[in-house]
Amino acid sequence: METDSQSREAQAGRHGRRVRRYVRQSHPARPGLIAALCSITLVAGCGEDPAGPAVQIFADSEHFHFQSTSALATQAELDEGISRAEELWNAIGTFVGVGRLPNRRITVRLDGDKRDRNGGDHIDDRGVVHLLRRGPAFGGYFGALAHEIVHALRYDYWHQYDSWSWPNFPFLDEGFAEFVAMQVDPAKTGFPYYWFNPDVVAGHWLARGESIPPATLRDRHRELNTKCEHQAYPLRAYWLLYIEQSWGRQAVLDIVYAEVPTTDEFIANVLGQDIEQVDDGWAAWLLSRYAAAPGADAEAEEFRSHFDGIYVCRVGTDF
Ligand SMILES: [Zn+2]
Repeated sequence: METDSQSREAQAGRHGRRVRRYVRQSHPARPGLIAALCSITLVAGCGEDPAGPAVQIFADSEHFHFQSTSALATQAELDEGISRAEELWNAIGTFVGVGRLPNRRITVRLDGDKRDRNGGDHIDDRGVVHLLRRGPAFGGYFGALAHEIVHALRYDYWHQYDSWSWPNFPFLDEGFAEFVAMQVDPAKTGFPYYWFNPDVVAGHWLARGESIPPATLRDRHRELNTKCEHQAYPLRAYWLLYIEQSWGRQAVLDIVYAEVPTTDEFIANVLGQDIEQVDDGWAAWLLSRYAAAPGADAEAEEFRSHFDGIYVCRVGTDF
């Protein structure tokens, strides 16, 4: 139900698309009543916000509905997000095939600063994308926008097949989100590569003997995904990149948009090779990419010293 008390047409968006913006009061303003309450008792929030109560803010485009409140985001952030999301819609549609895009608008919520919240960017059980704001060097709200939108555009597929219950599927889906994101949004500066060469970030885990075997990541996804995130996210994305470079993009799409359970046997049938052989080929290929990156060892050292607080999962301890 539309209950906006104010709405206005903004000027055409960055790409000539009309972007509608709404500003809605989250609560009817009763300044006299609020002032009276504040004067006789301690009311939560009294005196906290000289600009007045937070208002809900929105930005809408053809394929997205961005929402937040004035306490958690700015209208400029919503407008930037919706412009970038529309670009990503087109790029991801080209990547996966427009027939795989949903016939509905995707909702994206900007939930405030990461430092104030537990958890991370995610898709909720209704398919809504939730983003947290990091510092500017980490992409602000949008360091993981491409990754999360890839997930969100697969929501209907997940539910059609209940594919998250399949063997290997969590590994494949997480890998695919990052694999697509790094190709459609190569300028992104957020997790897991930040501003470093992705070949170096992914490859240095192997080069230093700190990789997690793909079979372990496939079999123990729920246990290791978050705990070992700095290893798991780039290693999985490069596993799919290896398949694309060796077998072609269609092989990747046949696997990640499977209509039958994604067992080891299913993947071997698509590729014509046992999954253990695929894993061995991937490791050799990723090591060669790392070795070919100019100044790889020095850049890896810089990456690790910059993030020397990150948790590194170890064989014998974590897996
Ligand atoms: Zn993800």
